[in-house]
Amino acid sequence: MSIQSLIPTYICDIAPYQGGKPISEVAREHHLEESSIVKLASNENPLGMSPKAREVILKSIDQIYRYPDGNAFRLKNAVSLKFNLHPESLIFGNGSNDILELASRTFLKVGDEVIFSQHAFAVYSLVTQAMGAIGVKVPAKDFAHDLAKMFAAISSKTKMIFIANPNNPTGTLISKEELKAFLTKVPSHIIVVLDEAYDEYLEIENKSESFSWLSQFSNLIISRSFSKAYGLAGLRVGFGASNPEIIQFMNRVRQPFNVNSLAQDAAVAALMDDAFVSESKILNNNGKKQLESAFRRLKLSFIPTFGNFISFKVDNAPQVYEALLKTGIIVRPVANYEMPDYLRVSIGLKEENERFIQALEAII
Ligand SMILES: *Cc1c(COP(=O)(O)O)cnc(C)c1O
Repeated sequence: MSIQSLIPTYICDIAPYQGGKPISEVAREHHLEESSIVKLASNENPLGMSPKAREVILKSIDQIYRYPDGNAFRLKNAVSLKFNLHPESLIFGNGSNDILELASRTFLKVGDEVIFSQHAFAVYSLVTQAMGAIGVKVPAKDFAHDLAKMFAAISSKTKMIFIANPNNPTGTLISKEELKAFLTKVPSHIIVVLDEAYDEYLEIENKSESFSWLSQFSNLIISRSFSKAYGLAGLRVGFGASNPEIIQFMNRVRQPFNVNSLAQDAAVAALMDDAFVSESKILNNNGKKQLESAFRRLKLSFIPTFGNFISFKVDNAPQVYEALLKTGIIVRPVANYEMPDYLRVSIGLKEENERFIQALEAII
């Protein structure tokens, strides 16, 4: 008897998620000092976390022997106040990845079809496949979601549609008007999961208005993350917003204590620290200009981004990736996103971007 024969084929067929290489691993493999390594591989906030969140974590640490609040009462109220959402329309996750998975575990069964875009965030196909549902990948248009084609892909088996806005790793954005028109057309028995992990980086005129659409679209689930602009990637916390009935069912499949107590407390503090988020956004805008002008100077094409990362094109992307690693710079290969000629670099501190640019220039 083989172990594999005990496992459903759709589980055996899942390709493992490839994350950014951890600093410790690169230090070990290339005999480098950890402190000399620049990690621009996971879209983390180069400023670290909000100092207010740090303060709260240190205060909360003595309570760690207790179970967390399974209902995330304080965090729920904080998010509710900040975004003018009813507490009953909110659910919290161990990162927003947890929200994406909860959505799939609540709604999907074997054989259901789930639509997402080519080059879209890898987790959509993972959580689809884990349920034995069928991923329907729709070709992108200039690296962006092609909503017309996605609409045309709807069949009698379609149960869910994932949309990342902005998308990772392409950094593309769908306009509010286009997105709302799409939601208006999609039949209400199809759940639309709108992943807005990078919304904090958008300029005011582009910022999502999707929370205000919830009353109109009963099939909409919005996910937000504390891992990017809020700088809490290691704590794992994100949230979902949807109509209360959907939230109630998602809560039934949610692990009772899925968000740890430090994460809950830190998220409340981070949420209130508007100064930190705007500082992060300014740094990101400046870093974006710095990297874009370097790519232009080096005659490398790149995809204009609305996030805190840029995907750029190089000859021999795998070799360039390895050569950068040797100099202690970690970026992200995106061949698994059907972008074998591209690498994705997260926008870092000015000095980090500069080290990346100099190393890249020496390699290509
Ligand atoms: C980084 C990212 C997330 C965030 O994941 P967390 O689980 O909240 O850390 C979600 N969606 C996309 C598209 C991302 O790039």
